[in-house]
Amino acid sequence: MAMTIDPGLVNSKAKKVHAVAPDTKIPPPPSSAMKRLTPSRLTDNDIAAVLAAYGLCVVGMWSVHGGVTKLTSGWSQAWTSITSLSGLLTSAIALLALVLVGRPLSLERRFGLDRMFVWHRILGDSMGLLLGVHVAAGTIAWASASGWINAIIDLTGRTSYMALAFVGSLLIGVVTISSLKSIRQKFSYETWYFIHMLAYVGMAVSFGHEIVVGSDLSGDNVARWFWVGLHVAVLTLMVFSRWGRTIRAFVRPLRITSIETVGHKTVAIEVSGKSLQHREGDAGQFCFVRPLKKGLWWQSHPFSMSAAPTKDRIRFTIKDRGEATHSITQLVKGTKVIVEGPFGVVTPDVLEGSKALFVVGGVGVAPVLAMVQRLVPDHEPIVLYRAHSEKDLVHFEELKAAVERLGGKILTLTGPTAKLAVKDPFSAKVLTAAIPDVAQRAVVLCGPDRLLHAARTGLKAAGVPVARIHSEHVWW
Ligand SMILES: Cc1cc2nc3c(=O)[nH]c(=O)nc-3n(C[C@H](O)[C@H](O)[C@H](O)COP(=O)(O)OP(=O)(O)OC[C@H]3O[C@@H](n4cnc5c(N)ncnc54)[C@H](O)[C@@H]3O)c2cc1C
Repeated sequence: MAMTIDPGLVNSKAKKVHAVAPDTKIPPPPSSAMKRLTPSRLTDNDIAAVLAAYGLCVVGMWSVHGGVTKLTSGWSQAWTSITSLSGLLTSAIALLALVLVGRPLSLERRFGLDRMFVWHRILGDSMGLLLGVHVAAGTIAWASASGWINAIIDLTGRTSYMALAFVGSLLIGVVTISSLKSIRQKFSYETWYFIHMLAYVGMAVSFGHEIVVGSDLSGDNVARWFWVGLHVAVLTLMVFSRWGRTIRAFVRPLRITSIETVGHKTVAIEVSGKSLQHREGDAGQFCFVRPLKKGLWWQSHPFSMSAAPTKDRIRFTIKDRGEATHSITQLVKGTKVIVEGPFGVVTPDVLEGSKALFVVGGVGVAPVLAMVQRLVPDHEPIVLYRAHSEKDLVHFEELKAAVERLGGKILTLTGPTAKLAVKDPFSAKVLTAAIPDVAQRAVVLCGPDRLLHAARTGLKAAGVPVARIHSEHVWW
């Protein structure tokens, strides 16, 4: 299979390099556009200060209760001290992980939900490890006082609250193991998601032992109320921010106003409803979509908006890739859908006045088409559009018209990788030949992981600074 390709990609002749216009600004969106995103006022310093204070309080609590002294007071005391510290840190990290999935707007606007989900996963892994240390150290400490058999009996139920803590640890252990990449990929997303919910049950049932067993909280009123207060604050965030938003979206659902086939196994769905008047959003962002339809209402899937959002409509372009997306492509006009979002920080603002390059794979074209609609001619956008075959080039005419209106162009690259005319179409050599000013452009990548990885490597080698390469982070 040959490459269907603009001459530029493998031919270094025709290109001229333009200087970047320093004052290129994204124009304000038209009045029909969805309300503009309110930027987060959080600074890196604010976040560092809060995290440092939080860490100091947790470690300080352990230290004030003799944690440091016990470390040098014999093996048994040292293990007890390690048990306390690892227990406190396990819970402290779990609370941070919960804050991230509580989706507070100030953090989402600053970092994007995708990155927050990645951090949630890292914190979850760290919590699992610390819990392992906590359980091992606790068993050793207990056994050094009363023997192994008694330690096991006490810690699995004979001591008050420990039966629940034991069950909680088992649940969190199951979640940690099932979240290892090699194991996680054997499950469907939904199966993994519901297994991973067990971690929250594990945390809830372990709470009692945190307060009652051990000396850090049981013997210190201030520390205990601080700890309870932290849990209540995080629970409140979950109720109002996370679940509250789902409930608000549920009571004010949107409706499908049009659904049309736009490519091979791909449909464009427009949804509309009054609640869009109050939302804030921009091109490039994504939403969670939950159709209120038998078999689909219990799961939500992320989809990027494929047109700049307005106060009365959002469009998604969805490829049939699995069970849920297959059912979604079969929906009909009038179906109610719960749409949460928009989320994400890869919007036209990331271009910061530079000329734009979009590297797109398959249905990854959706957010790019939306973003191009918001640009000005100074951006001279180039879209490098990779697809398995020509019939997978979705929204091609619409994209071409939008890009050409801005004096830009599309370079298409179709066909199986093994049959392409060049071995690595994203190598620095090929990219520089096709786009001579590539190093001066701001780049947005949208597509499958492998494409993102290959394009990122080639772009960096071609001299594009990492800070000018933008993409959503893969969270699963
Ligand atoms: C930020 C973002 C934007 C996206 N935008 C689009 C888009 O505009 N158009 C489009 O067609 N697809 C988009 N996707 C992909 C889309 O979400 C998945 O194809 C869809 O969820 C697959 O569900 P399924 O049950 O049909 O397929 P499955 O076979 O169950 O899943 C296929 C793969 O999709 C991923 N996936 C499944 N469910 C979820 C979920 N709830 N959250 C995250 N990943 C999941 C998993 O990696 C899984 O391996 C986007 C994904 C993300 C993360």
